[in-house]
Amino acid sequence: MGETTKIAISAGIQVGGSLFTPEQFAKIGSVVGTDAKIEMTPFKQLYAEVPHERRDVIKEELERYDLEVYPAGFVTKSLIACNFCKGAEEAGLDSARSLNTAIAGIETPTPLKIGYAGCALGTSEPLLKDISVVKMRDTFDIYVGGEPKGLKTSFAKLLISGLTEDKLVPAVTALIHFYKAHAKGKEKFSKFVDRVSLERLRQIAG
Ligand code: SF4
Repeated sequence: MGETTKIAISAGIQVGGSLFTPEQFAKIGSVVGTDAKIEMTPFKQLYAEVPHERRDVIKEELERYDLEVYPAGFVTKSLIACNFCKGAEEAGLDSARSLNTAIAGIETPTPLKIGYAGCALGTSEPLLKDISVVKMRDTFDIYVGGEPKGLKTSFAKLLISGLTEDKLVPAVTALIHFYKAHAKGKEKFSKFVDRVSLERLRQIAG
């Protein structure tokens, strides 16, 4: 294989969680080629190394099978959502999908993980993500600054509560773009939150 590039493949946001069909798996296997390394990441994406010049063709082929393809590396990962066990409507599937469309694959100073939980049980571990959305009845709460890696871990802190659906995507994208514009080098998002303060971020997201 000549020059290669990594792509991130995900199953899309759906009831039941990160589900792949046998056809999708077979397609991934056939389209990336027999030499490709496929990695299961901790953030619900499969990474595959593919020939650079075939990247766009492979992306199109996979998208035809309802798979989503994003850049790998220093970007926002696709939304790490829960399984929507309370049902599409109650757990806010449409909101999660809109959020995923808005945030997945934005270049960022460090890889960003954005979480979504359809209720306060939070089985998708929202407090361990850089930014997380938790649906509370008819509104949404946003948490920021979760850090599960290393020995100095921290839980995300509540930034905003009671956000209506129409304000959700603008609030989260504003946080991402503010981070992009003001991070110091490769400053981790949790450190960025501590440095700029929750109060400042509330103004940005509000
Ligand atoms: S966060 Fe709530 S709605 Fe989502 S899978 Fe967990 S329990 Fe179900």
